Amino acid sequence: MSEGKFLHELVGSMSQGAAGNPTVAMIEAAFAHHGLQWRYINMEVTPGDLGTAVRGAKAMGFRGFNCSLPHKVTVIPHLDGLGESAAVMGAVNCVVRRGEKFIGENTDGKGFLKSLASLVDPKGKSVVLFGAGGAARAIAVELGLAGVKQITIVNRSEPRGAELVELLRDKLKLEAQLVVWRADYTVPAGTDIVINGTSIGLYAPDARLALDLNSLKPGMVVADVVFNPVRTRLLEDAAARDCCALDGLGMLVNQGIVGVQYWTGITPDSAVMRAALETAMGL
Ligand code: NDP
Repeated sequence: MSEGKFLHELVGSMSQGAAGNPTVAMIEAAFAHHGLQWRYINMEVTPGDLGTAVRGAKAMGFRGFNCSLPHKVTVIPHLDGLGESAAVMGAVNCVVRRGEKFIGENTDGKGFLKSLASLVDPKGKSVVLFGAGGAARAIAVELGLAGVKQITIVNRSEPRGAELVELLRDKLKLEAQLVVWRADYTVPAGTDIVINGTSIGLYAPDARLALDLNSLKPGMVVADVVFNPVRTRLLEDAAARDCCALDGLGMLVNQGIVGVQYWTGITPDSAVMRAALETAMGL
């Protein structure tokens, strides 16, 4: 970087009401560990200012930014293009400068898959996914792109669940079905991977997923997107039944790793990032 321009390369995080975002410490720890003169800056941006903020970031040479609620969908018209999975899901959480263009990517599902890869290759597997919101949508699309055999979406709201199933069938030609979640759900025999993609359990260690625990069998992978608490009730129950439990903190670290890779081109040290995140979260 030429002298007199910026002291640091800049990456941002555009959100509303996300003060104290612990991922700032995680990303900056990666930059510092790898000797990069980069900064990751939390920016409070209102929906009405989003377009101006994106143009400002571009004009000021930002290398990219994360965006979270409420900007994941509304940011799209302000960008120059989309990556494959972001285009399928219609949501962006990570913007990357490529040449003079700002390209929208989605790292949530990629982070989940990277975390899942430590336990199982999803290709050819049968999946049950609770939820059809932003996180579940991102995970379902990445699982589809990774070649799962079939996926069952279990969601409380029928329209939201149906919309996700339709997207998976139409855009990815995936064998997908919806179960509207009304009572304890029985995981079908032969299921390989069970995922809680809802917010049930967030800051609520005793919150219970409406699920017949006897249908969780030894060896099944049971994953949770919830990262606080790290060991949710679902994961404790799954571990007690000899399932392979996968926590949401791994997904959060891995989506950060994918973002840093996109922005800087380097593969950051995951242990350094996880340690910084845990410290920032007081774990
Ligand atoms: P959304 O608001 O988009 O979706 C929430 C989902 O949870 C919906 O499917 C909703 O069902 C379901 N849900 C919420 N409460 C209940 C309930 N009481 N009973 C049944 N279903 C319920 O949220 P996100 O998808 O953005 O986030 C979901 C979770 O994922 C959050 O806890 C978030 O912190 C976590 N997350 C974790 C990440 C990580 O890296 N580990 C990354 C991103 C998110 P319905 O459609 O019926 O309303």
